[in-house]
Amino acid sequence: MTGTERLLSRRTTLGTALTPLDPELRRPRTGVAIVACMDARLGVETMFGLRPGDAHVIRNAGGCVTGDTLHSLQLSQTRGGTREVLLVHHEDCAALSDPATDLYVCMARLRKSEGLPHTDVVRGFIYTRSGALRELRP
Ligand SMILES: [Zn+2]
Repeated sequence: MTGTERLLSRRTTLGTALTPLDPELRRPRTGVAIVACMDARLGVETMFGLRPGDAHVIRNAGGCVTGDTLHSLQLSQTRGGTREVLLVHHEDCAALSDPATDLYVCMARLRKSEGLPHTDVVRGFIYTRSGALRELRP
């Protein structure tokens, strides 16, 4: 059985627990877009107690602010109504040798981005090996 088959098998035991797509929630309730590393150990939804419709979650290797990330954030803000960006990097990251330094670079890149309408609330956090969330301030 492949990994995909195992996940699909779990789906059948979950029944019909999927939440219908509420058109009102195309604009997240919190107005926050979260950019986080794709590391499977980071439970972003659990970390912030997210329910469907609460926030946009954009993930990639490292949780870095790339051109693709900026494009997604631009859509998040212009079409999804988000106004705040929350970045999550983490220790023991396979994509980044120095997550803290990269997080500062990412926050600066966001604040300077001319393509984003809202750059006044950008906050960055490091998820530690012990499971704490530590904010890095510029
Ligand atoms: Zn990572």
